Amino acid sequence: MWKIEKRFRFEASHRLPHHDGKCARLHGHSWHASIICEGQTLAEHGPKQAMLLDYADLSKAAENLCDKYLDHYHLNDSTGLESPTSEALARWIYDMLKPNLPLLTAVVIEETCSSRCEYRPNK
Ligand SMILES: [Zn+2]
Repeated sequence: MWKIEKRFRFEASHRLPHHDGKCARLHGHSWHASIICEGQTLAEHGPKQAMLLDYADLSKAAENLCDKYLDHYHLNDSTGLESPTSEALARWIYDMLKPNLPLLTAVVIEETCSSRCEYRPNK
């Protein structure tokens, strides 16, 4: 079994309208996200020989999402999530990427340098 991971970052604002503390206020983060793919077979031939997936393809998938929904957006608006917590955002990114990345198994969101959330749906 191989597990590969691509990390990327984006700047975005959000607010948690139901929170009973400071997260109810509009604020922003330098978010880090990781997309994690797992599989048991490597390509045997061609340009991807001995690869599970090309990191460049993971980057492309992440960049598309950043351009359209994440980087320099207000996440409450751009994702349609009422309360875009790390947990909700990790699941949202997973659901957006999964159709084109069948080997995707988990998404990690780091909202701050000390706060990290992993979404890994049960199979
Ligand atoms: Zn926040």
